[in-house]
Amino acid sequence: MSQLFYRDTWAEIDLRAIAQNVSSISELYKNKGVHVMAVVKANGYGHGAIEVAKTALQSGASYLAVALLDEAIELRDAGINAPILVLGRIRPEDVQVAARLDIMVTVFQVDWLEQAKDFLEKEEQIQLHLKFDTGMGRIGLRTKDEAQLLLQFLKDHEQFQLIGIFTHFATADELDVSYVEEQHSRFKEMLEWVHEWDMNVPLIHTGNSAAGLRFPEKMFTLFRLGISMYGLTPSPEITEELPVKLKQAFSLKSRLVQVKELPPGESISYGATYVTKENEWIGTIPIGYADGWLRYHSTAGGEVLVNGERVPFVGRICMDQCMVKLSEKVETGTVVTLIGEDGNDKITMDEVAARLGTINYEIPCVIGARVPRVYVK
Ligand SMILES: *Cc1c(COP(=O)(O)O)cnc(C)c1O
Repeated sequence: MSQLFYRDTWAEIDLRAIAQNVSSISELYKNKGVHVMAVVKANGYGHGAIEVAKTALQSGASYLAVALLDEAIELRDAGINAPILVLGRIRPEDVQVAARLDIMVTVFQVDWLEQAKDFLEKEEQIQLHLKFDTGMGRIGLRTKDEAQLLLQFLKDHEQFQLIGIFTHFATADELDVSYVEEQHSRFKEMLEWVHEWDMNVPLIHTGNSAAGLRFPEKMFTLFRLGISMYGLTPSPEITEELPVKLKQAFSLKSRLVQVKELPPGESISYGATYVTKENEWIGTIPIGYADGWLRYHSTAGGEVLVNGERVPFVGRICMDQCMVKLSEKVETGTVVTLIGEDGNDKITMDEVAARLGTINYEIPCVIGARVPRVYVK
């Protein structure tokens, strides 16, 4: 998809990397009866949900997951027919929208079912995945009593088809695996609660990227693959343990719109916090905090690549622009790499995340919609 845009800043999304990541991960599970569910919530972690979903489905994934009903509708509107699960809670009054588009939804409350029932026609059906909270403390059903009520309701109402059961690990990306073990055993006990009702539920799933790559034996029938599909490791400490080599798909690029030589004693940007010490070449990049390129990138000593060389931000990052100190004169229009490879050097998502004191997940998600995504196939 080549989309028309008029600015000199863009995110380059390497769909070949995504295809490779999905296929090498699917390969691991090929003969184990575990299917890959590609998680494309939040516009595919900022990479572009539709393009990523199509690529993942062509490369070995057979299910999709999103956080919101709106995100699932966007995929259906794009002509994607694969099964889609909404991982978050939809409003009971919106159940008919999901049912008519054949979108699977997450359930964990009996009163949700009671309310949703009134929004479905008698002959309409909706597919549900029951979420158990085994220790994440976010959403999910926790007690056997609640489970009994919910399962009784499902037995009595054919409009609701229970086709999946799942949970989510809180610490799958940490070296200490004891809490994963605890959640896993709680989950097995909860599955027993369902078995007591003689229900045949085909899709059982527990894990995100970290869990799926580290604990294949805890995956049951689906693996919810998010961050690692995009070529990123769930956390730095488990990088060494991963059974596949991942390729980062997201790069962030721009072009210098002005290059000037300033004498000593000239200040740069708001607050005049940076003052040139000598004759300095200053380049201006048309990206700013309104694009999600936060002011802290400069405060934290961030760098970009220009002609394969690292150069630092100087002065405060503005809403739409920021400045770097170049080591020499370069041409206006020269490409600037804020994230990604240039020549022999590379600014990884992990480097950028560490700079901001956060996790790699957050970085592509916060690069705004104002930054066009360009796809490399
Ligand atoms: C986002 C999400 C995932 C994907 O997690 P990654 O760590 O990105 O692989 C899996 N399951 C649920 C419930 C999620 O919300």
